[in-house]
Amino acid sequence: MARYLDSKCKLCRREGTKLFLKGQRCNTDKCSFAKRPYPPGERGKLGLSGKQSYYALQLREKQKAKRMYGVLERQFRRYFELASHYKGETGKRLVQILERRLDNVVFKLLFASSRSQARQFVRHGFVFVNNKRVNVPSYLVSKDDRIEIKVKNAKLIKTNIEISSKTRSVPSWLFQDKDDLKGEVLRLPGKEDLAVPINEQMIIELYSK
Ligand code: SF4
Repeated sequence: MARYLDSKCKLCRREGTKLFLKGQRCNTDKCSFAKRPYPPGERGKLGLSGKQSYYALQLREKQKAKRMYGVLERQFRRYFELASHYKGETGKRLVQILERRLDNVVFKLLFASSRSQARQFVRHGFVFVNNKRVNVPSYLVSKDDRIEIKVKNAKLIKTNIEISSKTRSVPSWLFQDKDDLKGEVLRLPGKEDLAVPINEQMIIELYSK
């Protein structure tokens, strides 16, 4: 599978917001966006990026969502197509699909410090859904699903919970049992549950052209 290998911090600076791609580092003063909150490159540094067209803004919004969730173009378009089956609710469904990804859920339960670490946990077979091992990060959870982490040494997971809980909390659509490293999907997520807001309408407009 293709992966983005350039600096993750550049992505935050390009999108003009913190995307929290580097785990605990994102909440420290080492955060590149906090130090240099302008686009990468000379033009960004000099503030010469100029006024963006509406199309460019739509494109940026899509890139922001893709980068935040670590989803490549083909899969993102598939999500859009899946969401567009629901008439009039495409934006809401798109956000919901992104949030329901198993790697995102493991991250949101604070078991991982970033979505990419959560993705690794899933791929390595540490994550179980309803007592079955699921090693597909894009697996979409449903209401009442039970998520569990099973590892021989849970020290890393416990440390993640301890440190992450200082800067973020488990969203209300999920239940976390931090002692047994378990979680449950209490309801399906909505736009109000996003930690970093996405203008999903702009993304829909872009794909609908
Ligand atoms: Fe880098 Fe994280 Fe800061 Fe983004 S939020 S610039 S990934 S440290």
